[in-house]
Amino acid sequence: MTTNRLAASLFVPGPEPLLITGGEGSYLFTADGRRILDGAGGAVVANIGHGRPEPAQAAAAALEGGAYTIPVWATEARLALAERLRESWLPPTLTRSLFVSGGTESVEAALRVARQHHTARGDVDRWKVIGRSVSYHGASLGTLSVANHDRRRAGLEPMLLNLPKADALDADNVHKLIEAEDPSTIAAIIAEPISGASGAALVPPEDYLPRLRELCTTYGILLICDEVMTGFGRTGARFAVDHYDVVPDILVGGKGLGGGYVPIGGVFTTDAVVEPLAEVGATVMYYTFSGSDVACAVSNRVLQVMEDEQLVERAATMGARLSTMLHDALDDHPNVADVRGLGLLQGIEMVADRETGANYGGRLTAEVVAQALERDTWIYPAGSGPVPDGLLFGPPFTVSEAELERLVEVTVESIDAAVATIGKP
Ligand code: PLP
Repeated sequence: MTTNRLAASLFVPGPEPLLITGGEGSYLFTADGRRILDGAGGAVVANIGHGRPEPAQAAAAALEGGAYTIPVWATEARLALAERLRESWLPPTLTRSLFVSGGTESVEAALRVARQHHTARGDVDRWKVIGRSVSYHGASLGTLSVANHDRRRAGLEPMLLNLPKADALDADNVHKLIEAEDPSTIAAIIAEPISGASGAALVPPEDYLPRLRELCTTYGILLICDEVMTGFGRTGARFAVDHYDVVPDILVGGKGLGGGYVPIGGVFTTDAVVEPLAEVGATVMYYTFSGSDVACAVSNRVLQVMEDEQLVERAATMGARLSTMLHDALDDHPNVADVRGLGLLQGIEMVADRETGANYGGRLTAEVVAQALERDTWIYPAGSGPVPDGLLFGPPFTVSEAELERLVEVTVESIDAAVATIGKP
């Protein structure tokens, strides 16, 4: 494969990308014969592992019989996925499903549903959505507006809505912001249960989400939980909110729902949220490719694999192993400020100096990721704002103990090599 062909086919400037030809389990294969240990399941997506036959079989069957069907009509594949989710995955009150084509779309749709819910009830002043620092909810202008990932917002600020941001770890701060903004103007609060890409698996205190739930109920605000990264078993429970016994009004998912085999996202909500829309005859506008048959059929099969192989339980067990390994290897490392996470979503925060908190402003992350790739290992870059340098670990749930050991070994080597390469900040 020539450099020219790659350069012509990709519009993102930067170093020449790897040419991936396939994968199996925790490994990706390159055209020049390398086997890359995928310590992040791509973008924390490949929950059931690479190269499985089941999704391909489900896709072939769906395409055989399929016809394009507008998203507001039912098909067997859509119904089957919605039924499996309701019966075996979602909190029981989240009975309504809307399928889209990815995480950004699911958050965008959730924001619209929240606003439409209030206007349908005549509560037209409620339009603000409180986001949090740090957070990431997608790359569209709407989702960048409700999130606070400074590097991903950089340069786009004039085009974004100026929406209020609360603290991602301090529920008292959220309460104060609600009061300051006038609660009767607030439509929703959106929160990742664990801040993934922006916060390097930043886990809030135990009472944070329950308090958000309570505040939302008290003030008539809808709680949207963004489980695009944390959902579908990633944290060792079906959804991260399950760890906290919290049920949001709207839960959004993506990534692991399709396991990386198909583009899909979902908005899952309650009868109470949807009924006012139905009463006034309001519809939620769809995207042309929302909930395609092939995406729904493959996702249904991916979830079946997870159930048959008890992969959520495995994410909990292997996540605990990875956490222990990371703590053992990095708790005393001079450039590691924190090791954290839940299940197979683990993260570390890196600094230049643990005493002073001096940092590399993102440069260390980029260098560590590059060093790991030279060692045939993929680790996901994370961090923004108050977490300038971080790494995310999110391997497939089928990962072995030996693969986790190698991942941690490469991480330590790569941090040391990166610090030696870039020197003092
Ligand atoms: N929400 C969260 C929490 C995410 O982590 C991401 C992607 O990383 C998104 C939304 C956007 O999802 P997508 O990249 O599928 O549009």
